[in-house]
Amino acid sequence: LTVLGLETSCDETAASVVRLTPDGVATVLSSIVHSQIDDHAAYGGVVPEIAARSHVEMIEGVTRRAMDEAGLGYEALDGVAATAGPGLVGGVMVGLSFGKAVALARDLPLIAVNHLEGHAVSARLGEPVAYPFLLLLVSGGHCQLLEVRGVGDMTRLGTTIDDAAGEAFDKIAKAMGLGYPGGPALEKLAAAGDGARFDLPRALLGRKDCDFSFSGLKTAASRLAATCETDQDKADLADAVQKAIARQLGERSDRALKDYAENHQHRLFVVAGGVAANKTIRSTLEEVARRNGFDFLAPPMAYCTDNAAMIALAGAERLQKGLVSDIDAAARPRWPLDEHKALADPAHK
Ligand code: ATP
Ligand code: MG
Ligand code: FE
Repeated sequence: LTVLGLETSCDETAASVVRLTPDGVATVLSSIVHSQIDDHAAYGGVVPEIAARSHVEMIEGVTRRAMDEAGLGYEALDGVAATAGPGLVGGVMVGLSFGKAVALARDLPLIAVNHLEGHAVSARLGEPVAYPFLLLLVSGGHCQLLEVRGVGDMTRLGTTIDDAAGEAFDKIAKAMGLGYPGGPALEKLAAAGDGARFDLPRALLGRKDCDFSFSGLKTAASRLAATCETDQDKADLADAVQKAIARQLGERSDRALKDYAENHQHRLFVVAGGVAANKTIRSTLEEVARRNGFDFLAPPMAYCTDNAAMIALAGAERLQKGLVSDIDAAARPRWPLDEHKALADPAHK
């Protein structure tokens, strides 16, 4: 199956063509990502109206490039997958409407994809990972532990009770004057720091569930940011923040792995989402997996942050299962991954 994927839920306009064999081996034929970082940098975060307008300007050219790089005409496609939520609804509507137009014009099935499901399958873009697996999804807007059995078949085990990990990175980085997006900038600065002198709060220690909390850390670190005088102070704080986030992700994942191991034969732990690009976090999680006797996998770096290859792949896997959408599928600002009713209903309405 060959599927065109479109992603416009936040601040990247992306299109990709992915081929999926019947036994689940994915090949990325093209993956074009136009980041809007420059459009939003002056505002210190994503401005929804600017994002939606930029998607309108970019979507056609980005899609054409994806088709050209794949070396295919539209007649070679088996389906069109577009992110239908969750995200900034103005942007989601641009990609989804464009996908509907291509589907109608070329008489192709439309697959409305949950952006989080895209992140959930993204590790399969690197190698043919077998289902099921335990997933830590850490992105700009989400921080969840999920049992993943396949597309349309996931159970959430825990989630953040306040902020997402990426949000914590971004807000603390902003308070430190590092600009937007904050995660990569904070990671770079942390390399020159030693966070040992900062004592940051540890949330939910010893709790027997798989939830997360980052707001206490965010508040404490933002206050400390105001006291930093030298570049070294800032680097030290960045290191302390990164370690604190990594530690919580590790502690909560450890809890989930132990629960999961009691009920499952499979021993695979996967991390995905933008924060999975962080090397300290990757190595912390890999160590937690190893201690619990699990294999560990993260997507190739390029597929951690938002991209359309993950949307094309989720679409192709859905198409294989016969889960196609109605042409009037709605854009959804909120859309929980394990909302079984929505996922079981091919119309997604
Ligand atoms: P969601 O997927 O929840 O809707 P999103 O699509 O905006 O949100 P992603 O694109 O998956 O999120 O990830 C972006 C987030 O990842 C941002 O918060 C960014 O700061 C963070 N991030 C990216 N690279 C790194 C890094 N190297 N270290 C830490 N955080 C990072
Ligand atoms: Mg982004
Ligand atoms: Fe995302």
